[in-house]
Amino acid sequence: MNTFQDLGLEERILQAIADLGFVTPSEVQQKAIPVLLEDERDLVALAQTGTGKTAAFGFPMLQKIDVDSRTTQGLILSPTRELCLQITNELKNYGKYFKGLNVTAIYGGASITDQAKQVKKGAQIIVATPGRMKDMISRGMVDITKIEYSVLDEADEMLNMGFYEDITSILSHTPQDKSTWLFSATMPKEVAAIAKKFMYNPIEITVGHKNEGSKNVSHEYYLVNSRDRYQALKRLADANPDIFSVIFCRTKRDTQKVAEKLIDDGYSAGALHGDLSQNQRDLVMKSFRNKQIQMLVATDVAARGIDVDDITHVINYQLPDEIETYTHRSGRTGRAGKTGVSMVIVSKSELRKIKSIERKIKKSFEQKDIPGGMEICQVQLMSLANKVHDTEINHEIDPYLNDINALFEDTSKDELIKKFFSVEFTRFFNYYQKAKDLNLEAQNSSARDTSDEKSTRYFINVGRKDGYDWMTLKDFLKEVLELDKDGVFKVDVKDSFSFFNTETEQMEKVLAFFTDFKQNGRFINVEITEDKGRSRNRGRGGRKGGSRRSGDRKRNDKRSDSRSSGSGNRGDRRRSDGKSRSPRRSDSGSNSGNFASSRPRRNRRK
Ligand code: AMP
Repeated sequence: MNTFQDLGLEERILQAIADLGFVTPSEVQQKAIPVLLEDERDLVALAQTGTGKTAAFGFPMLQKIDVDSRTTQGLILSPTRELCLQITNELKNYGKYFKGLNVTAIYGGASITDQAKQVKKGAQIIVATPGRMKDMISRGMVDITKIEYSVLDEADEMLNMGFYEDITSILSHTPQDKSTWLFSATMPKEVAAIAKKFMYNPIEITVGHKNEGSKNVSHEYYLVNSRDRYQALKRLADANPDIFSVIFCRTKRDTQKVAEKLIDDGYSAGALHGDLSQNQRDLVMKSFRNKQIQMLVATDVAARGIDVDDITHVINYQLPDEIETYTHRSGRTGRAGKTGVSMVIVSKSELRKIKSIERKIKKSFEQKDIPGGMEICQVQLMSLANKVHDTEINHEIDPYLNDINALFEDTSKDELIKKFFSVEFTRFFNYYQKAKDLNLEAQNSSARDTSDEKSTRYFINVGRKDGYDWMTLKDFLKEVLELDKDGVFKVDVKDSFSFFNTETEQMEKVLAFFTDFKQNGRFINVEITEDKGRSRNRGRGGRKGGSRRSGDRKRNDKRSDSRSSGSGNRGDRRRSDGKSRSPRRSDSGSNSGNFASSRPRRNRRK
């Protein structure tokens, strides 16, 4: 069964599916939809958010209700207002060809009388948060005594949030013979108890394993001193210029503090926690959805409703107490068929928690190094170069080009390129040239230096855009280089390029192989990159720009005065106290320090 038609869905829904661009049913849809369409029975589905579960219950519910009637027939309970609104929107999209369909959202923090009016118009489906729903039942504003289908969505979250009593009370107003469909990412005993209490002989379907994280998420940890946590976070962000992430902290205070620091350092960040008003939270979420905020710093509770598909990274600034919370956090990325990374910044005392999480999610973590300063400079430079390369020319600049051309009359193309990129490169270079190695092992022992010499790090000009993730790139490299299982390691895939390590003894082989290797008609270029963590030992005379070319002689390799990029022609921005400002902050004081940022931002007042 590989198409939506095969699942038994009717034409009106198939039409909406086609409009939405869904091509194949997701696993939970394949497993749930035929069963729910065919039988009137209860269901327990273990599925993470992002697996397409809204459609898994939404399609059958739409197909089964009578839109010509004004009676409320379907009730969906969800933990947060955000999720409630999302489900409502999705259902409206799915049911756009059902004439007379009325799906109403009921949640706290908005006018109860308006919501009651919507219901009165004849809502066949109500999507509600438990607190407001209970309130409306007690005020006689809704009638759920003829419900035929009830859904408990994100049941584990609802119970975590203390909604057990409310759910029990709400369900007591619904008919015995309705069907109940329960969806939960994890199956703690409280959820099993609910299933037992309110459901009759439910079919159980599982997408992935119980309590297991999403298949599309890889897990990494970074071992640092507690006091270096914030610096480590910044490096992770700088090493991923296109990051779109949620950063989890344990307390509201830390959440606010980290967000403020990031904003102060010129990052596009925002805080989301319970001490903010609903209005403030809505604004932050809106900016995040619109990608005006790249880094959303959040508490677990506040982040419960976040249902954004393109999150590239989840960063655990601190680990949560409960392992199940980690599953929820990491499930915010790797959604809708995309891959994602869950990173943990961990201190030595928390290391054992990583082992417990591994056991629970049945996946291994990869220990990775916090990128060194020169690696970050290289990433930022290449990311900007790729952006410039892909930029469409805006001909509105044509009238001004004469003046610009006059300015550069005596400048060669080579020099112009160097000058252009130095504008941004210098900022990162000045900040990071003497940056220390944050990796705990490197700080604690010199043994690391020896082990570093045994391995070599490379830059390769393929990345996510070419369809690679860390696993497929690792496999590709192992195969073409004929290396064994652990022959390629520390693979780090960015948008247009990547990094990887091999044993140093393989270096000649690697460089020789990629001298003129073509894939899809394009040269794949591999260069040795700056060793991580070593930059602190190198003065200005060290290798800059971070690379040595492999033997591709076709390319122009003039780089005699490459040091101009590091000569600080705009003045060294290090402060007299020895600390340097974040590279994200530009000299003008504007907030657009993001190296590869394309969005104009408001000037920030200091
Ligand atoms: P959910 O798990 O319901 O929150 O769905 C996550 C995202 O996947 C939503 O944006 C859906 O619109 C989308 N989606 C659901 N089913 C499919 C599908 N079969 N193919 C592609 N996208 C889907």
